[in-house]
Amino acid sequence: MLNDIQETLYTEEQIQAKVRELGAAISRDYEGRNPLVICVLKGAFIFMADLAKNITVPIALDFMAVSSYGNSTRSSGEVRIVKDLDTSVEGRDVIIVEDIIDSGLTLSYIIDVLERRNALSVHVVALFDKPGRRTVDLNADYTGFVIPDAFVVGYGLDYAEKYRNLPFVGVLKPEIYSS
Ligand code: 5GP
Ligand code: MG
Ligand code: MG
Repeated sequence: MLNDIQETLYTEEQIQAKVRELGAAISRDYEGRNPLVICVLKGAFIFMADLAKNITVPIALDFMAVSSYGNSTRSSGEVRIVKDLDTSVEGRDVIIVEDIIDSGLTLSYIIDVLERRNALSVHVVALFDKPGRRTVDLNADYTGFVIPDAFVVGYGLDYAEKYRNLPFVGVLKPEIYSS
């Protein structure tokens, strides 16, 4: 698996330091509140776990899965809910935890769903952001790293369901995509 990586973009230590910063900012902003923190599966699962440990206000957790890329590296533009929340968002402060924002289509769909369900507030924390590839006007409220247009894997992010378990984030060798 490590042989497939061309370059490390962010080490485990760099990611952990950033996640602590994001957790501190969220803890400050949500002082006195009890937000519902929603993990967008599967890519955000490790980020969610680490972030939750760095949030000091009481939170509730839930999980949602939407279809996005399948096995390719480009969004189909078609989004649908594969696993819905167990919790009602009505009247709740909601924080969506995303691994990465690329076109923004997935996130705009999720925000729309939560607003239609009458969430009190909807904010977004994304570990990675590729603003250069946006097709909808949308930005995270909390962003970890802004990255150029490269397909990254690790720390929850996959290529064809592989590499999610890498503790760091990197770029694959080009031959992995073509094989
Ligand atoms: P969007 O709808 O913003 O185009 O893409 C949303 C989802 O596509 C992300 O939440 C993520 O799961 C996947 N994605 C986007 N860019 C990358 C990337 O560079 N690497 C991986 N592994 N997944 C990505
Ligand atoms: Mg995602
Ligand atoms: Mg994926």
